[in-house]
Amino acid sequence: MPNAALFFGEGTKGSEADMGRKLDYEKEVIGQMLALYCRRRHGADTLCPACRELKAYADMRLDRCPFGDAKPACSSCKIHCYKADMRARIREVMRFAAPRMLLYHPFAFVKHYVRGRFGK
Ligand SMILES: [Zn+2]
Repeated sequence: MPNAALFFGEGTKGSEADMGRKLDYEKEVIGQMLALYCRRRHGADTLCPACRELKAYADMRLDRCPFGDAKPACSSCKIHCYKADMRARIREVMRFAAPRMLLYHPFAFVKHYVRGRFGK
């Protein structure tokens, strides 16, 4: 998990560039949630094919986000860019993973996500 420090906000000394890109940061958060979800639900050490597909889709949506690094959190974004089935899948991941992530890492961004469109 090479970028775990980025997500957990530790060890950022001298690596401000790593924190600079919001999209990369969001990818990292989604990756962490998927990893947790897949490990518990699918028993996979690394992401199973279905979860990898979902991760690739989420990354792709972020890459194509018209707001770029100026984007708001997806939960408060006006453009609901996920396809319906992918949105249902990512929402399930969020529902499962977010409360557990909050337990270990109370984290404003994660809360933001959970209360937004993925949490409903
Ligand atoms: Zn999985």
